Amino acid sequence: MSARVALAIIGGGASALAAALAARARGVAATVIAPAGADGCGLAYSTVDPLHRLNVCAARMSIVENEPHDFVAWLQSRDGKVQPQDYYPRAVYGEYLRQHWRTLSNVVAAEALALAAIQNGWRIQTTQGALDATRVILAIGVPPAQPLIPVSDARYRLDGYAPRDAWPRRGLLIGSSLTAVDIALSWCAARADAELTVISRHGLWPLAHNDLPRHGQIALDIRSPRHILRSMRRAIATGVDPCAAVDSLRDATVELWTGFSRADRAQFLRHARSRWDSARHRMAPHVAQALAALQADGRVRLVAGRIRGIAADGDLAVDWQPRGRARIETLRVDEVVQCTGFDGGLTSAGSPLLRSLLDAGLAQADAHRLGLALDRKQRVIGAGGRAHATLFALGALGRGSLWECIAIPEIRSSAAAMVVA
Ligand SMILES: Cc1cc2nc3c(=O)[nH]c(=O)nc-3n(C[C@H](O)[C@H](O)[C@H](O)COP(=O)(O)OP(=O)(O)OC[C@H]3O[C@@H](n4cnc5c(N)ncnc54)[C@H](O)[C@@H]3O)c2cc1C
Repeated sequence: MSARVALAIIGGGASALAAALAARARGVAATVIAPAGADGCGLAYSTVDPLHRLNVCAARMSIVENEPHDFVAWLQSRDGKVQPQDYYPRAVYGEYLRQHWRTLSNVVAAEALALAAIQNGWRIQTTQGALDATRVILAIGVPPAQPLIPVSDARYRLDGYAPRDAWPRRGLLIGSSLTAVDIALSWCAARADAELTVISRHGLWPLAHNDLPRHGQIALDIRSPRHILRSMRRAIATGVDPCAAVDSLRDATVELWTGFSRADRAQFLRHARSRWDSARHRMAPHVAQALAALQADGRVRLVAGRIRGIAADGDLAVDWQPRGRARIETLRVDEVVQCTGFDGGLTSAGSPLLRSLLDAGLAQADAHRLGLALDRKQRVIGAGGRAHATLFALGALGRGSLWECIAIPEIRSSAAAMVVA
């Protein structure tokens, strides 16, 4: 590798694919740097479990910016009976992404290790040599999660999606997001006698699409995070669906978030985030029904509280404190799975590339350490506070700076803007 390219896209998941397709559509010569074996599916769409569904309906999941019906058309080409409003298995969506990935011609199988500024561009050090590019898009997802609890025991798992031979009977899932729902469904399908406890600070499951009757309308009060939270609570208490209100703000969320002061955002993260996320990242209806059945059978229970410690004796003995109580309870399980997803915060452990960007001052963490500091165009802001004109980050690394940037519809349109910005 030695030539200079107009655009280098680093990553092998759906974000990198969206950027590569957008570049091709605009005639921008792009090279993708992705680990060997990457296929555009990344973390979210590599699952083979049919119980793991998309949480966005098929009609909105095209990966091609100017072809909004591309995914539905692809589904139709395989099977005429397509429901565009349905939530398909993520494994099916993975096949769709793979098919597009195979059409990319400039993919270098390598890991990017470091970036350095050169005249009018960037030099990317990779495991296969160096590549110069005028413009770079970081589409690297987030680095692997780090343990929330200091316990070194193989029965504390950080990746619930990793293939495994067997599931034990008693489990604890930390976090009650969509990831925890996925793992609970897989676990209980694999093992009829599974007994799972799910713990999260607020004890809230994601709401389901069409969970609450859509009667009444509510406009969220967006003057401050506290007002948002109050109006969401009011909506729920009066039986009005807060999801419609959250959805109606979807196009305005970045505006709203970037307009908040740093203190407002911190307040939102502390007080409103759980409610917001549960209304924003919702379960597909089939998933919600399956989870409700498991809860009704007593195989899955959700508690609100905090883990205080885990001791490994014969079992894993988990000390946890129920929310609002002083006493500590102990739960004995065979395995703990950390399902906190993107919520763990930025860490460069496990990503030499991120470490090098941060160490060299080419990037800095955002104020809430959820990802990198980015400007509105998703340009990476260096330690000196200035955005680099030609270095962008796509996907979850922008969460703290933009908030609404991790789902395919946003990734697709941001990718298209970046390749020509
Ligand atoms: C479980 C789950 C389910 C989801 N479901 C939906 C859904 O239904 N609908 C929706 O719209 N969104 C969903 N999302 C949101 C999801 O974030 C996006 O849809 C999208 O998959 C993000 O992909 P990505 O490429 O940004 O990150 P990732 O999928 O994490 O991919 C990152 C890629 O970059 C590679 N990489 C990392 N570092 C380097 C490096 N230094 N050099 C080269 N390559 C590197 C990695 O190996 C990987 O291939 C889901 C997310 C999760 C986690």
